[in-house]
Amino acid sequence: MTHNLNIFENMESEVRSYVRSFPTVFTKAKGYKMWDEAGKEYIDFFSGAGALNYGHNDTVMQKKLVEYITSDGITHSLDMASSAKAEFLTKFNETILNPRDMDYKIMFPGPTGTNTVESALKLARKVTGRTDVISFTNGFHGMTIGSLSVTGNSMKRKGAGIPLQNVVTMPYDNYVDDQDSLDYLERFLDDSGSGVAIPAAMILETVQGEGGINAASFEWLQKVESICKRWGILLIIDDVQAGVGRTGTFFSFEPAGIKPDIICMSKSLSGYGLPFAITLIKPEHDKFAPGEHNGTFRGNNHAFITATSALSYWENEQFEKDIKVKSDIMMNFLEEMVEKYPELKGEARGRGFMVGIASDVDGLSNKIAAKAFELGLIMETSGPKDEVFKLFPPLTIDEDGLKQGLAILEESIKATVK
Ligand code: PMP
Repeated sequence: MTHNLNIFENMESEVRSYVRSFPTVFTKAKGYKMWDEAGKEYIDFFSGAGALNYGHNDTVMQKKLVEYITSDGITHSLDMASSAKAEFLTKFNETILNPRDMDYKIMFPGPTGTNTVESALKLARKVTGRTDVISFTNGFHGMTIGSLSVTGNSMKRKGAGIPLQNVVTMPYDNYVDDQDSLDYLERFLDDSGSGVAIPAAMILETVQGEGGINAASFEWLQKVESICKRWGILLIIDDVQAGVGRTGTFFSFEPAGIKPDIICMSKSLSGYGLPFAITLIKPEHDKFAPGEHNGTFRGNNHAFITATSALSYWENEQFEKDIKVKSDIMMNFLEEMVEKYPELKGEARGRGFMVGIASDVDGLSNKIAAKAFELGLIMETSGPKDEVFKLFPPLTIDEDGLKQGLAILEESIKATVK
């Protein structure tokens, strides 16, 4: 049976979103490939907006999940103890936290990225007794009131319908006129006469995903950490999109050598595209009393099963090395495209598997993404003016698949700039 796209067009809020960018009905997906009802094959350079870092329907995770379901493994258990949860916690500590010498408590804040951000903002305010939060231009943290209030995108903020308060938005990295925004911030904090209240937290992405693939330098991140320490401000790293290997290491901030107070993770954490989020909290900040932050859908047991299986990828050192080799292929390709097609007025950006080209030509990136879709490559755009076409393949893609996708991308660029 095939379905008419009109059925989606009856739903206003649907048609305004991904249905419009990718106008077909998808039926099947495996690894880095997707198929639609007509049987057309697509290469996926989108990975569910970063929720499918291990690709679609990973065979091992699928088998574990089917075994768990058919043996009547418990599905829903609020925050009761379950065997699936115990296995996830054990493996997360053994595979991820302990080898990195990271001492964090693990909280299940609710099923999605915005839930972990809300829990982090609440906790930082509770721990410090302060109100304000510093966030950054073009940062994206979610669509509920708290996470939206720290999101630096005026179009998205309008959706709140009311002014969003208690947030100071600073320029991201050293972006504005070579003025170091952090020096500026320190001047404010230092000057008792400025009247600025010391904030509870600073929240940021190390590489901004929705904001246009802006990668902070490691030095800048270190400076953020030292300001936070000096003023007792809690540093929240939102690793919802940049985490789980997307920038080349499990946590995006690892190469900067920083240890945030609170870490937000979701998207690819379940490994299988299931809703799942965690908030990692330094033990001294573990201040929520039971019941102060709960919800019905915390700790989905099916997600525990696939997430535990997904962590096995990180037991094999070769996994990170392969990500690096493939990242270099992508970045070299993007730099080549910028040179070869000056009509793009492009700049190659990003880190690891979170890369793209920002084009200075109005609307061009969206046209390239639309052409790529026509030619069988799924890719999205980001940035305040959708100026960046974003390459987000699964980390597990093989080199052949990657090169095939890049070839389609070049064809799309060529066809569009002419
Ligand atoms: N933080 C970041 C960095 C994100 O990219 C997103 C989603 N794009 C969120 C938070 C919100 O996650 P969710 O859509 O699952 O609520």
